[in-house]
Order: sequence, then structure tokens, then C-alpha cells
Amino acid sequence: MINNHPAQEQLAANLAKVRAAIAAAAQRANRHPSDITLVAVSKTHPVELVKLAYNLGVTDFGENRVQEALAKIADFHPQDVRWHMIGHLQSNKAAKVVGSFDYVQSVDSFHLAQTLQRHAVEQNRRVPILLEVNVASEESKSGLTLDETPGVARQIAALSHLEMQGLMTVAPRASDPELVRPVFRALRGLQDRLRQELPTCSWHHLSMGMTDDYSVAIEEGATIVRVGRAIFGERPYV
Ligand SMILES: *Cc1c(COP(=O)(O)O)cnc(C)c1O
Repeated sequence: MINNHPAQEQLAANLAKVRAAIAAAAQRANRHPSDITLVAVSKTHPVELVKLAYNLGVTDFGENRVQEALAKIADFHPQDVRWHMIGHLQSNKAAKVVGSFDYVQSVDSFHLAQTLQRHAVEQNRRVPILLEVNVASEESKSGLTLDETPGVARQIAALSHLEMQGLMTVAPRASDPELVRPVFRALRGLQDRLRQELPTCSWHHLSMGMTDDYSVAIEEGATIVRVGRAIFGERPYV
């Protein structure tokens, strides 16, 4: 690795800022920063940036497009790196996702879960999953509604090779992160409800918060934040 590479210096500065903000938000919420996993969202960026981030201590990476991600994962998958699928997933790509990603955060239907289960059985793997919830019921977003999640969760809980780990949401765009605090709070409320209704599953993780709102998400209980632009800079328009 070349030292003093401009991209690496910028990345180091960005990461230091994000880590400091995570620690500050955790402290405000009386939580420990080590209870919060930073997933660096590397979509649209080359694998070279992923490697630089790894050298700066990042071990979790998020991608939303299977094809793009597979090339990066094939190129870079040391033992301690976890790749997270965070985008809407079509069932016909489920086999590849089971074979390459470490987490699927975007399980948004029983049909998709069944397909993941079938491939997990075939490949003799267990797949950690989160259920994606469209808290604000936005037309433009995938995800289960708050109301349908418990029923679908009960069905998915019966699938032997999927390991339920919690919930994920993408909050609406907002000019002020305070405006989406109720969205994060609602996901936390759903987690409480699922802990009561389906105590045999783990509901430990709340994956919520992105560049514009991760501090608020941590105050509301996020255990995973998915941060792209604040780490890697603006994405080229795709
Ligand atoms: C792109 C993306 C992110 C990261 O968004 P930033 O605003 O760049 O931090 C997080 N989660 C999902 C599901 C995404 O698609």
C-alpha cells in the first residue's frame, strides 16, 4: 500500500469523523460505541477504495447490486470481512447472494426468504438475515409494512437455514434528520413487539441510519449504521 495516497488521507479523515460522531451519539444515548457496527456502503465505488477502508479498520461493507458486488467480493474477501446485501433482491439472484454475501439485510417477502432458504440448504450454508421494513409505507421503497411484518416474520422463523437477526429500514429523505426520528422509533417499537411475540428468534439488530441521519438512528437504538457518502464521498450518478 502506498502511504500518503490522497484517497487514503481523505478516507482516513472521513472515517475519523464518522467514528467520532458514532461515539458521540452513543454517549448521548448511554450506549457503548462498540455495540454499533459501521457498515461502509461501497456501492458504485471501486474495490480499491474498499481495500483502503479495510486498511483503516473497516470490516463490514454494504452493496445494493448483486452483479457489481460479486466482482468486488471475488476480488476481496479476507476472513474478517463481512459483505452485507442491502438492496432489493430478486429471487433469481438469490443463489449467488447465498454463495457470496455474509448477511442479507433486505429480506422483504416470504417468497424471497423461501428462495434464500432453498439455496442455503443446497449450498449447506446458514444465512444471517434482517427483515427490511418500509416504516413510512413509501411507494418508491421495498420492504414489509409495519403491520405485515409480524406475520411474515413468523413464517420466516420456521425456515431452518435462515438466521433471524433483526430489522432494517431506510428512512425517507428529509431536510432535517429530526424529522425521521419517529421512523427509527417505530422500528424500535416493532422490535419490542417481535421480542414478545417471537421470543425464539433473535431481534438483536436494528440496521438504521445513513449519512444524513445515523446520529439520530443511534440515539434511537441502531446497532448497525450503513454509511456511504460520509465515508467514500459523493457517488457518481448511476
Ligand atoms: C446507498 C445506501 C446507503 C448509504 O447511503 P448514504 O446516504 O450514502 O450513506 C445505506 N443503505 C442503503 C439501503 C443504501 O442503498
